[in-house]
Amino acid sequence: MDRRAFLKSIGVLSLGISRPLSARNRPKQPNILFIFSDDHSLQTLGAYRSRMHEFIRKHNITPNIDKIAAQGVLFENSFVGNSICGPSRASVLTGKHSHINGFRANGDRFNPAQWTVAEELQKSNYQTAVIGKWHLGSLPTGFDDYAVLPGQGTYYNPDFIFKGSSEAVRKQGYCSDIIGDMTIEWLDNKRDKAKPFFLCSWHKAPHRTWLPHPRHFNLLDGVDVPEPKNLCDDYQGRTSAAHQQEMTIRDHINISTDLKVTPPVATTPLEKIKELTPKTRSMDPATFRELGRMTADQKQAWDEYYVPRNERFRAKNLKGRDLLGWKYQAYLKDYIKCIKAMDDNVGRVLDYLKNNNLEKDTIVIYSSDQGFYNGEHGWYDKRWMYEESLRNPLIIKWPEVAKPGTRCKEMVQNIDYAPTILDAAAIKIPTEVQGKSLLPLLKGKAPRDWRKSILYTYYGKDIHAVISHRGVRTARYKLIEFYTKGEWEFYDLHKDPLEMNSEYDNPEYERMVSDMKRELKRLMAEYRLG
Ligand code: CA
Repeated sequence: MDRRAFLKSIGVLSLGISRPLSARNRPKQPNILFIFSDDHSLQTLGAYRSRMHEFIRKHNITPNIDKIAAQGVLFENSFVGNSICGPSRASVLTGKHSHINGFRANGDRFNPAQWTVAEELQKSNYQTAVIGKWHLGSLPTGFDDYAVLPGQGTYYNPDFIFKGSSEAVRKQGYCSDIIGDMTIEWLDNKRDKAKPFFLCSWHKAPHRTWLPHPRHFNLLDGVDVPEPKNLCDDYQGRTSAAHQQEMTIRDHINISTDLKVTPPVATTPLEKIKELTPKTRSMDPATFRELGRMTADQKQAWDEYYVPRNERFRAKNLKGRDLLGWKYQAYLKDYIKCIKAMDDNVGRVLDYLKNNNLEKDTIVIYSSDQGFYNGEHGWYDKRWMYEESLRNPLIIKWPEVAKPGTRCKEMVQNIDYAPTILDAAAIKIPTEVQGKSLLPLLKGKAPRDWRKSILYTYYGKDIHAVISHRGVRTARYKLIEFYTKGEWEFYDLHKDPLEMNSEYDNPEYERMVSDMKRELKRLMAEYRLG
């Protein structure tokens, strides 16, 4: 038994008897670089063995994120507790589910007076900073320094809010590159070398409406992105929830703003672009806003790529299944190109650590705020408890502790990040935190009593008409309760990994369904839900 485990076993570390350590007695605390992206699916990450990983590897889309996996631990069963941007970020910062931290849906405001991992690190000798997407309504607290995008931010020439000022400042360039630049600049010029750092480099990419950098416009020319088997899902075999959503590529993705079938930008006056802003609720005006902020050079590059592409599209006059296929390719190609620019910047930051002798003492975390549909079930977006949005990437390297190339199968969740970070920094985890430290898993020693199920909640008051639901997932089964409608779904993931047929009413699964209902109730009590 090592010393820490021994102290834990006699209660010295876990019962709050430990006192703040003086700088001299403090154990060596690692640096923590937390790279977070927005809506990055497992399907589009080379290191995950999902339906597109061979395509992603072949076209060299995520070589740098894959490198983190090769040097560290990839969590194969990583899940979120609520698959939507703001709530996931709130769970990451607090180690608590949405109903406890109070941030249930986008549009809520994060209560900055509550406990966060950043504040705890700051109190415990760490220098803390966040750069990039924040999206929590209130401004960051617990950070010595920050530069965050207002709201969703933009891909082209984004505004940033810097600590100490409420005024947004426009930066010239492409968002992922700017976040990479600022991350490196912080490490180079703002870092206090006498302290360990907690640096959050939180990307906007690849969030809708997927505007690539001009250097990647031609990246996937002449190739077809593989389609999922269930692109033409008709939602038979499921409850009314899947039938009433508004997030299909066929009917709801916006051909103008999402897929950029726009008038030529360079020849369209700014005022005209503003007039074109769509008004219906399923449309997103973000692309038009972005086109209005481009420089003349950026507009010209944009037009040189999209105008001939759009002319070819119009000439084909596609209908039905052919039109769906075109929309799928247009969506996926822009989405993947946005990931490529983000990965370029992950590489630049990793190189900085290596070249500045920081690699050995720095934990690098790569994750995304949730997964995403890349045409599975005919969808884009997230929100559901189905696999593609419930799962999120989580890759952690820590050269001192974690064995390179490890793949962990235990079930982990985004409420676990805060306690893991504290545990790695030898800081006591407050009892109110709901997640568990992943440190034993990073060391390759899963405790025997590690969790066997996870709780999920989604609060449907946002766009895309996905109704509220909650549920439980184990290694093999999933039970979903659409509680506002009194409807249930149950899946045997070994038999039906694509979740096409609910077995809720199948008598063969009767006992399993009632076990899962009991497990859901138990988890709700454990996490103090309802
Ligand atoms: Ca997101």
